[in-house]
Amino acid sequence: MQPDPTVLVACLAVAVLGILCLAIGVGRKRRWRDPTRLFSWSQKLQLIHQANGRCEHKPPLWFRCPAPGTEADHIHPWSRGGPTELWNGQLLCRRHNRRKSNHVPSPLYRWRLGRRRKKY
Ligand SMILES: [Zn+2]
Repeated sequence: MQPDPTVLVACLAVAVLGILCLAIGVGRKRRWRDPTRLFSWSQKLQLIHQANGRCEHKPPLWFRCPAPGTEADHIHPWSRGGPTELWNGQLLCRRHNRRKSNHVPSPLYRWRLGRRRKKY
């Protein structure tokens, strides 16, 4: 028994459409990213000045990290659409920058950071 040629053509068309969709990325979640990945030197200097050179990490019920801030970090991660702009930057030590990774901080964290910065 021979398969119906129209069924073969339909299957071929579906396969070609599937391959085309994969090739152009239809259905894939795309996230905007700032084309500038790293903070500039002047932005880093401003972050250092703003934080008095200290890491800005502070646990909820503890003191601010005493280590010197050595890395400019995106508060809202660059990989998740955070822009490389001064308002989205914070100064962290290497340990806290690695620990934060690409986690999006809570609105409470941002609010507390803003309040702390007024006291620096
Ligand atoms: Zn730290």
